[in-house]
Amino acid sequence: MARVAFIGLGNMGGGMAANLAKAGHDVRAFDLSEDALARAEGAGCLRSADAVSAVEGAEAVVTMLPAGTHVEQVYASMLPACAPGAVLIDCSTIDVATAKRVAQQAIGAGFMAVDAPVSGGIAAAAAGTLTFMVGGPEDAFARAESYLSAMGKAVIRAGQSGAGQAAKICNNMILGATMVATCEAFLLAEKLGLDAQAFYDIASVSSGQSWSMTSYCPVPDVGPDTPADRDYEGGFAAALMLKDLRLAMQAASDARAQTPMGAKAAGLYETMVAQGEGAKDFSGIINQLKP
Ligand code: NAD
Repeated sequence: MARVAFIGLGNMGGGMAANLAKAGHDVRAFDLSEDALARAEGAGCLRSADAVSAVEGAEAVVTMLPAGTHVEQVYASMLPACAPGAVLIDCSTIDVATAKRVAQQAIGAGFMAVDAPVSGGIAAAAAGTLTFMVGGPEDAFARAESYLSAMGKAVIRAGQSGAGQAAKICNNMILGATMVATCEAFLLAEKLGLDAQAFYDIASVSSGQSWSMTSYCPVPDVGPDTPADRDYEGGFAAALMLKDLRLAMQAASDARAQTPMGAKAAGLYETMVAQGEGAKDFSGIINQLKP
C-alpha cells in the first residue's frame, strides 16, 4: 500500500480520504478546518500541518477543493515539495481551462497528473461508490486508477487533460435541464387534471423517462425515496447545481457552443439560490415553477 496525500477533507473529501485509509493506504491529510482534520484522524488518516508536509514522500496526491482558485493555490504551494514520480489527482469540480493549466504545470514539473471529478454526492463519497470521470495521459490514468477504485464504483477515462471536467459539466447540464423539464411536466400534468402517480407510471416507461424522473423524482410520494419526500432537504444542493451550470455556461461561451436549455436552467437556479434556497436539494426547483 502507498503513502497518499489528501488535501480538502470537506463533505466529499472526508469520506473519500476515509475510504483510502480503509483500503490500507497511509493517508496524510490536510485541510484548513480543524474539525475536518479531527474527523479525518478519527477515520484513520494522519494529520499534516500543511499541504507541503502532506505531499512529502507521497506516491499519490488527491485534492478535493471547492473551486479552481483553491486548486491553483494548493498546486502552486505543494508542487515543489512533491516526490519524484508522484501522480497528482484533482477530484474537485473546476473549470476546464484551470484544470488544463494545473495539469500542464504538474506535467511540466515532471509529475503525472489527471483531473478526476466525480458524480455522486456525500453519501456516495462515504460509501465509496462514486463515479470518476478522468482526463489526462494514459500512463497517468493507469497510475491513478487504483487509488480512484478505492473510492468509487466506476473509473472512466474521458480523454486528455480537462476531459474529465468537460464530461462532468456536460453531464450536469443534462441533469439540470432534465430536472427542470421533469418538474414542469408534473406541474402541467396536475393542471390538466392528471394524477401525479398515474403520470409517473406512464412517463417512466415512455419516452419522457430520464434519471431525473425515475431515480430522483421531484414530486413527494411518487417514485423511489428522494429528497422530495423530505421537503427537499439533503441530496444535491441547488447551489452546487448552479456552480456546475455556471461552469458549463463559461465553457460554452469559451467554445462558442449553443446551450439554450442549459442557459435557461442556469437562470432558474440563479433565482432559486438568490431567494435563499441554495441549500435545498436541486429538485426543489419545482417550487420555483409554481405560480
Ligand atoms: P466542502 O466545502 O465541504 O469541502 C471543501 C474543503 O476544502 C473544506 O473542508 C475546506 O476547508 C477545504 N479547503 C479549502 N481551501 C483549502 C486549502 N487551501 N487547503 C486545504 N483545504 C482547503 O466541499 P465539498 O462538498 O466536499 O465539495 C468539494 C468539491 O467536490 C467541489 O468542487 C464540489 O463542486 C465537488 N462535488 C461536490 C458534491 C457534493 O454533493 N457535495 C458532489 C460532486 C462534486
